[in-house]
Amino acid sequence: MKYALVTGGSRGLGRAVCMKLSQMGITVLVNYNSNRQAAEEVKDAILSSGGSAELMGFDVGDERQVSEAIGAWEQSHPDDYIAYLVNNAGIRRDSLMFMMPEDDWHSVINVTLDGFFYVTRLVLPRMMMRRHGGRIVNMASLSGLKGMPGQTNYSAAKAALIGATKALAQETASRNVTVNAVAPGFIETDMTKDLPQDELKKLVPMGRFGRPEEVASLVGFLCSDEASYITGEVIGINGGLY
Ligand code: NAP
Repeated sequence: MKYALVTGGSRGLGRAVCMKLSQMGITVLVNYNSNRQAAEEVKDAILSSGGSAELMGFDVGDERQVSEAIGAWEQSHPDDYIAYLVNNAGIRRDSLMFMMPEDDWHSVINVTLDGFFYVTRLVLPRMMMRRHGGRIVNMASLSGLKGMPGQTNYSAAKAALIGATKALAQETASRNVTVNAVAPGFIETDMTKDLPQDELKKLVPMGRFGRPEEVASLVGFLCSDEASYITGEVIGINGGLY
């Protein structure tokens, strides 16, 4: 059986992606870091709409936790594999660079970039061995394309994720594993709730923040059979903000 693993699936964009993939008939592994209750709620929502889901708690930036969780899952599911991987977990720790604490630099790079590496490296062997291939979608950001002041750590991490997406896409293409990145602008989630939305939405040509479900639709498309020839791409979803 083919499963989807969504990192940071407990809230925000990850939650919406879990729901979307479940609606597509895919069994979802909902990853979370600390908020187990929010992850339980995602699982319950999937089950009550007729889908199936399991929880998989680990910190994507902790190599030991990642390998224990995925290793245990693979042992208990010898005939199954993760065919859809959405590397969505991410954090923001914004400040101007001249006063950025070293910890805030490392933690953002750790969750976004080390997290991508630790999880993807483990999931790839089974994905590449199966005839039906797989889909990897990395949650980048407009910040990783244009750079945002106050976010040198976040912009660097997301730009690196985009580079890794393009490189990995070429490594896996012959095995029918596509690797793409999604680059959202401002989307309404916990991550953006402390931002001055009234000010910022004036910058967006569509005049509003995006909804998590709008991003989830794009991720769902990239995971579908319809997207079988799209790989190594970065697709913006930003209401016209560049
Ligand atoms: P959010 O509402 O803050 O949710 C973050 C999610 O990531 C939560 O499920 C959280 O788990 C999980 N997470 C955080 N650190 C983790 C770790 N070390 N290991 C595993 N899971 C971890 O954020 P969001 O807005 O949905 O953002 C999701 C992704 O989209 C991020 O990569 C973000 O950079 C990107 N993005 C967001 C926007 C936006 O405007 N919202 C724009 C561009 C890109 P817990 O519930 O356990 O804490």
